[in-house]
Order: sequence, then C-alpha cells, then structure tokens
Amino acid sequence: MSRLVAVSNRVGPIRGPGRAGGLAVALLEALKARGGLWFGWTGEISEGGEARLQYEQEGNITAATVDLSQIELDEYYNGFANRCLWPLFHFRTDLTTFNRRHYEGYRLVNRKLANLLSPLLKPDDHIWVHDYHLLPFAEALREHGASQAIGFFLHIPFPMTELLTTLPQHAQLMRGLFSYDLLGFQTEDDLLRFRDYVVRQAGGSISGDLCTAYGRTLVAKAYPIGIDTRELMKQAASAPVRRELLKMRDTLQGRTQIIGVDRLDYTKGLPQRFQSMLRLLEDYPDTQGRVELLQIAPTSRGELDEYTAIRKELESLAGHINGRFAQLDWTPIRYINRAVNRRALTALYRSSRIGLVTPMRDGMNLVAKEYVAAQDPADPGVLVLSQFAGAARQMQAALLVNPYDAVAVSEAIQTARHMPLEERQQRHQQLMKKLLAEDIAHWRESFLRDLNSSRPTN
Ligand code: UDP
Repeated sequence: MSRLVAVSNRVGPIRGPGRAGGLAVALLEALKARGGLWFGWTGEISEGGEARLQYEQEGNITAATVDLSQIELDEYYNGFANRCLWPLFHFRTDLTTFNRRHYEGYRLVNRKLANLLSPLLKPDDHIWVHDYHLLPFAEALREHGASQAIGFFLHIPFPMTELLTTLPQHAQLMRGLFSYDLLGFQTEDDLLRFRDYVVRQAGGSISGDLCTAYGRTLVAKAYPIGIDTRELMKQAASAPVRRELLKMRDTLQGRTQIIGVDRLDYTKGLPQRFQSMLRLLEDYPDTQGRVELLQIAPTSRGELDEYTAIRKELESLAGHINGRFAQLDWTPIRYINRAVNRRALTALYRSSRIGLVTPMRDGMNLVAKEYVAAQDPADPGVLVLSQFAGAARQMQAALLVNPYDAVAVSEAIQTARHMPLEERQQRHQQLMKKLLAEDIAHWRESFLRDLNSSRPTN
C-alpha cells in the first residue's frame, strides 16, 4: 500500500494517547495503518523562520515540521488565512480584509512548505492536504514536478460565487485548486457552491463527480466529517464521568442546564445565543431560577481585533443579563472563558438537558455530534441546532433553528425543556444511527479510498 503523507497547518502529537475523537487521532490512525509522514508548521516562531525541518519518529510515523518567522505568521496565518479566507468562507464579507501583502505572504509560505516537503516524497505516495491555510499547496508541489495523487479536504464552508468573487485573487486560488486530484467538502451544499463557481465563473463543466476547468479534471465530493462515536459513548458511560456527573447533579439542584461549547469566534453566534436566553427569560418567566446556560468559550485567535471585540461584547451581554435576572442562588448565564478538557466536557454534555449549538455558519460543528453521543440513551437530552451548521444536514432529528431569530431559538428551548421522554429517545436514536454509521473512521476511509483510486489525469 502506498505511504500516506498528511499535510496540515499544525501537526498533532504523534506520541501518547492523544485527544480521543479529535482529527489528530483520526489522521494518526490512517498514518499508522499504512506508514506515513505528517508535515506542517511546528507552531513555533523563530527569528527569520529558519527553513530547517525538525523530525520526530514514532513507530512507522514520522512528523516533519518547520518554524515560521513572525512576518510569515502575520501574513500567512493571521493575515490571509484568518483575516481574509476565514471570514469570507463563512460569508462574512463585512469582516474580510483584503491585503496584497498578506496574500503574497500566504503564497510564499505555501511555497516554502512545498519546497521542504518535495525532496521527502516517494513516487507512489498519496498526499492528503488539509484546510484553508493550504489552498495553493498542490500547485506549489506540482511546480517541483510532483505527479503523485494529491487530495484536499476543506474543513470550513465553501462560499457562494457572488461572495468568492469579491476576493481579488479568487481566480488564481481556484485555478490552484485544480492541481489537486480530489477535493473534499463538508456538505453537499458546499460542493454545489464549488460546482457553481466552476461552471459560471471558470467556464468549466461537470460530469458526475468530475469537474473540469483550467485544462484539468478532478473529483469533487462531500465527505461530512464525523466523531469517534463509539469511543465517546464509552467515555460517557465510564466510572470517572459518572463520578463527575454526581457532583454536577448536586450543584444543579434540579435546575435545567443548557450547554454551549464553542471557540470564541464570531461565526459561532454567541451574542445571538445570549439574546435568545434574554428572550427566554422575558417571555417564559417560569424559566427564571430554573434554567441556566453554561457557556464554555475559550479564547481563540486572541491577537486579532475582531476576536477581542466579540469577547468584550459577550462579557457585557452576560453582565447585563445576569445583572437583571440573577438571584442570590442562581445565575442565568455561566460564562467560562477557558478551555475544558475532554472528560469534563463529556460529563457536562451528559448532565445538560439541552445542547445549544447555534453558529451563524459552520463547516460541520463537532460539538453538536459530541453532545448527542454523550447522552444517556435511556434519558437523553435534546439538541437545538442551527440550520446553518454543516452538521444540520445529517442531524435532521435535532430541533433545527434559525440562529438569527431569537424568538424561534427561545421557543425551541421551551420545546426541548418539555419534550416527553419517548420523543427524546426517538430523536436520539435517529441521530445516533447516523453518528455511528458516519463516524470519523468512515470519513477518513471514504476519502482515502477515493484518493487511492484517483490518478493524476493530465
Ligand atoms: N473543545 C474542547 N474544549 C473546549 C472547547 C472545545 O475540547 O473547551 C473541542 C470540542 O470538543 C470539539 C472541538 O474542540 O471537538 C471544536 O470543534 P468544532 O467543530 O465544534 O468547532 P471548531 O472549533 O473546529 O470551529
């Protein structure tokens, strides 16, 4: 079997137990199965960003990583990836910064990484590149004469043509994507938007899964990413989690806990979620003293202004709502601006009657899936899920909501609060069926199967 080469912005730990259920673990398993190389940025900055590879070996897996310089980080990662592509691909043109210098830096880092990987490649390697940081990576590798099969998976949404064309360099980036042999998207909707660009903007054509444009043909398909469902179910029923649950039940004293878990990001709909809580407390006064939202929201990308702004907005909203409604022994919103580890998270999911997952736009949203998998099948909680999360496609048995509509979200919370046991069980069973069939192993294997059979066509 050919060797697998995984390329991602950051390289996960290749030693130790890893984070159960994470993408890092899924990739590691694929690398272990066939022997492999994981290549990317160390996550470290060094003066001048020395182009010297650092190696780590564990069994048949090698990690090869390189530092970036401060300028590379500013232009490639903070600049083009996170201040341009991230908002644009989440449909937030209002927050998108177009800066030529950032774009040049982005291309340079992609070239630098391709230059370093190129001599390490073997002729029959299969290369799997991940996410929006590395859109032009295959193009840069091909410049070195690479003829191996190269696949790309986009973890975030793909924007509609009208939005994508606001990016001055859209044509160059899209042409670059055609250096891949296989493109994977999270949902059929993302795939449709990509195909729309191919036909209407690039003058290309579609035939089945094949897309032709710029003189090249590739396969483009949807591969919704999953979680390690069985592992999470096992963890949720384990003795340590059961112990944590007992402690949590004591503190809750019969109140209904709603859980939200999100990186502090403007795509996650956090201020809108707090506004929905406000509506709930105003419109259904019986919720006062009885319902609380536990919102875990660790800071991410804290060095960018947009992220500082959202944090301030949330703190002020939580302060306002709590100031108005809190009682001596009850606070409607418990807002925790820190990361919580997986085991504690699993216990929190299981102790929460409602999972509130309301992003304004999300590639997939794994929290929605984790919440459902962590429930007690005999007495499961209810997932309230944004129709704009990629996960909504597979999770039709959740209570789907429009996160822009605070009244509708508060009504869904009420419905979830009062949902009879039988209906909760039915919905949970339906959701679990999908989560078990379309888990992380299924995602990885489907993509790699297609990559194995995709040969460079021209
Ligand atoms: N997560 C975590 N601790 C936290 C917050 C989040 O371990 O305090 C994990 C969460 O369990 C999930 C991932 O981070 O696996 C977030 O993935 P998701 O697809 O929901 O959103 P993303 O952050 O990738 O946009």
